Amino acid sequence: MNIHEYQGKQLLKGFGLPVAEGVAILKAGEAAAAAKSLPGPLYVVKSQIHAGGRGKGKFKELSPDAKGGVRLAKSVDDVVANVNEMLGNTLVTKQTGPAGKQVNRLYIEDGADIDRELYLSLLVDRSVGRIAFVVSTEGGMDIEAVAHDTPEKIITVAVDPEKGVTAEDVKALNAALKLDGDAAKDGEMVFPTLYKAFVDKDMSLLEVNPLIVMKNGRLRLLDAKVSFDNNALFRHPDVVELRDTTEEDEKEIEASKYDLAYVALDGNIGCMVNGAGLAMATMDIIKLYGAEPANFLDVGGGASKEKVTAAFKIITADPAVKGILVNIFGGIMKCDIIAEGVIAAVKEVGLKVPLVVRLEGTNVELGKKIINESGLNVISADDLDDAAQKIVKAVKG
Ligand code: GDP
Ligand code: MG
Repeated sequence: MNIHEYQGKQLLKGFGLPVAEGVAILKAGEAAAAAKSLPGPLYVVKSQIHAGGRGKGKFKELSPDAKGGVRLAKSVDDVVANVNEMLGNTLVTKQTGPAGKQVNRLYIEDGADIDRELYLSLLVDRSVGRIAFVVSTEGGMDIEAVAHDTPEKIITVAVDPEKGVTAEDVKALNAALKLDGDAAKDGEMVFPTLYKAFVDKDMSLLEVNPLIVMKNGRLRLLDAKVSFDNNALFRHPDVVELRDTTEEDEKEIEASKYDLAYVALDGNIGCMVNGAGLAMATMDIIKLYGAEPANFLDVGGGASKEKVTAAFKIITADPAVKGILVNIFGGIMKCDIIAEGVIAAVKEVGLKVPLVVRLEGTNVELGKKIINESGLNVISADDLDDAAQKIVKAVKG
């Protein structure tokens, strides 16, 4: 689960971390009061969407020369003018895709005088099985380019879970970021506290880009992207309250109600598969035959007929889907349950696109019989290769 920048900052402030004062607003009428409550004279107006790259983003409704989704303002009036220009418009960034995201919240923040912009993130580094800091002196807006062009400028410091962040770790991070004086002193508090926040709140990612050294020599977290481990959300009702479903894909929200592992993608072949590994393989083979999957969907091991029906409905409700591939290996999952679920869903919502079904495993004969006797226009396939070729061919006409 992701949250907005301002929510992430509030949460981190609760741990004592240095973030600017700020006020989130939903209506343009709130802008002046919000700005007046801040010290000034420099303000920042920041679009709150669940996507990065806002600074370099462009608003669809404005001219291409208009400023982006993060703007500096030098007076209360300037704040209000920017709010009026930004709120309600659609911001397109590298991370939103061409459709962009509507900006329904703005965060008005006290502006900082920046000396240097650094990169810092905390993540679960699977290669060492530890939480790790990833840092770089090249912070700001284009860390992907840094990773691509000068990977040696990105430094990883993994944390021993038993010791936590040690004095040596702090030293290494301060050195990697070339921090000294007050900034290095701040680092002694900031690094262990970020780690504590990450662990306490079961985060899966905490990205601060940029972490800044201000002109006064102190550190500040200027941006915050926080994601949480969904499997641990039951421990954090306070975090669940921060969820903004308007930022999430409707199909993913629907899928989460049925406990389906679903991720919307850009292609046109809807996939219903059991098991994450098989789902990945199915997506790979669709690509191999020259098409793109519309989604990743794992219905799980012991899915009920209701769950299968819900999954099928989510796939068919996507107008981008021009064909559906059901690929099931019935181990714990039984093929007849899948067949019944597919048929129940088709009866409810109809079937306007080609459907290829490949069943294998437990009760496969019964499953095939149910589908064959349903009167549905189903293309059956014998193995994954065959199934992928058939659906790609059907979609391409
Ligand atoms: P992102 O583009 O979505 O990553 O949004 P950020 O919050 O990282 O802001 C983008 C850029 O705006 C930063 O890299 C800074 O250069 C600039 N910026 C943001 N806040 C301030 C501020 O308080 N003062 C100054 N001078 N620049 C800021
Ligand atoms: Mg940023």
